[in-house]
Amino acid sequence: MNRNTFIPSGELGTISRHRIVFTYLKSLKFRILLVLLAAGWIPMALMAASLLSSYHSRAVSSRTTEVQNQCRILANQFINYHYLDNASSELIDGELAQLAGMYDGRIIVVDQNFRAIKDTYDLIEGRYVVSEEVIRCFQGETTNQTTAEGFIEITVPVKNNDTTAADGESTGKDNSSPVLGVLLVSMSTDSIKVNVEALTGNAAVFFLVYGILVTALAILFSHLLVRPVDRVRSELHEISSGHSADDLAVKAYTETEQISEEFNKIVTQMRVLDESRQEFVSNVSHELKTPLTSMKVLADSLLMQEEAPVELYKEFMGDIAEEIERENKIITDLLSLVKMDKKAASLNIEPVDINDLLELILKRLRPIASKKNIEMVLESFRPVTAEVDEGRLTLAFTNLVENAIKYNKENGWVHVSLDADHKFFYVKVMDSGMGIPEESLDYIFERFYRVDKSHSNEIDGTGLGLAIAKSAVLVHKGAIKVSSQLGEGTTFSVRIPLNYIA
Ligand code: ADP
Repeated sequence: MNRNTFIPSGELGTISRHRIVFTYLKSLKFRILLVLLAAGWIPMALMAASLLSSYHSRAVSSRTTEVQNQCRILANQFINYHYLDNASSELIDGELAQLAGMYDGRIIVVDQNFRAIKDTYDLIEGRYVVSEEVIRCFQGETTNQTTAEGFIEITVPVKNNDTTAADGESTGKDNSSPVLGVLLVSMSTDSIKVNVEALTGNAAVFFLVYGILVTALAILFSHLLVRPVDRVRSELHEISSGHSADDLAVKAYTETEQISEEFNKIVTQMRVLDESRQEFVSNVSHELKTPLTSMKVLADSLLMQEEAPVELYKEFMGDIAEEIERENKIITDLLSLVKMDKKAASLNIEPVDINDLLELILKRLRPIASKKNIEMVLESFRPVTAEVDEGRLTLAFTNLVENAIKYNKENGWVHVSLDADHKFFYVKVMDSGMGIPEESLDYIFERFYRVDKSHSNEIDGTGLGLAIAKSAVLVHKGAIKVSSQLGEGTTFSVRIPLNYIA
């Protein structure tokens, strides 16, 4: 959107309202509310629906059985009163009318010729009734069905039970005696419907109360359940906005407890990182300032002398050149270190002949060693080719061998060995030098750390060499160890995988 586009304040209100609604719909609280509502509502609704429908079908079937029984009793009386031959019995007529009235229905009596001899509605007397149900009933079946309009239709056969069947065959139907007529009853289910409606009304009231209760409880529980998560969020906000330096501690759930622990770990790591970064910056500043201070002192003292002799100028300029050299070395080492710290993606891995690599390093350093008459030996147990970043490893081994020469005594020796197994290659750099005090062994790989500051004046160094070496080894997923005997010598052992592990 164009920055200058004018948005009316009303529209802004709508946008933020939409955002609030969207945020709520996305929230865990809303999801929990939905689950609780579903868990409260759905089973109850299903139960009510099934109870009401089973009540309806049970009511229909019991009404049907009741009417069938009454009809059977009537059918027996038909025989006794020969009603089918002469439908003029007042008693039967009365009973038919009573039965029809009781169930709000209509009864038609059909004789053997399919003729309606009695209709409680007085509509079709004398007419023929040839429906499927009537035919089936004449074959001995008692039928019943509920029509789409909600009527129960029943047919009951009228039989003379005294007569015995001619053949007595059992056909699965009640054909032991001939069917002399059929009682065709149709009755309304309105009264059942009224009952079901009354029940539905009661259920609706119950549901309303139940629904309000379930919704209220669901809102309450969704709020309570999400409260610890809300606390995590608000405590995190306090910490991130700098208002609190406390640890995160929300122990309400196992999950929030675990999140708190993990978060506190990250915070601790970040604090350590921040402290080491601050320390590094102050160390770098200090190290870079030292040569500058010396240069300033040298220059100032020359400037203060009115007529300083040329020799003094030459001497001081020589010292200044040395300080510049030192400054240069610190900056070069710092750049190497930064390069080493970069991610493994910047590594230039290729198969490298390690024997050649070490030989070349020793050859380059031999002139420095010979100044102190130090003997340099390379002992190689087997030819080794490994997948490594040649530049970084050269720097690492150069630093180790350079140290072995620097911190050695006159006429001493430096012994470099190379060996390998099926997984790793091993390089050892041993010297007959001054050794490292035990209490310093834990710190020598730290940036700018130098053992005994007094000898750092005599022996040139930045305190970065071992940090660079360690970083180069670690980026190859290798390991570096040191062992030393004060006054006798030091051994650095390096182990690096033959095949690079990404
Ligand atoms: P520096 O530039 O001072 O050599 P390093 O990081 O290479 O920095 O080494 C750190 C310190 O470890 C050195 O100042 C030195 O005191 C000690 N050190 C390193 N290698 C040896 C060694 N082979 N013998 C004795 N001391 C050593």
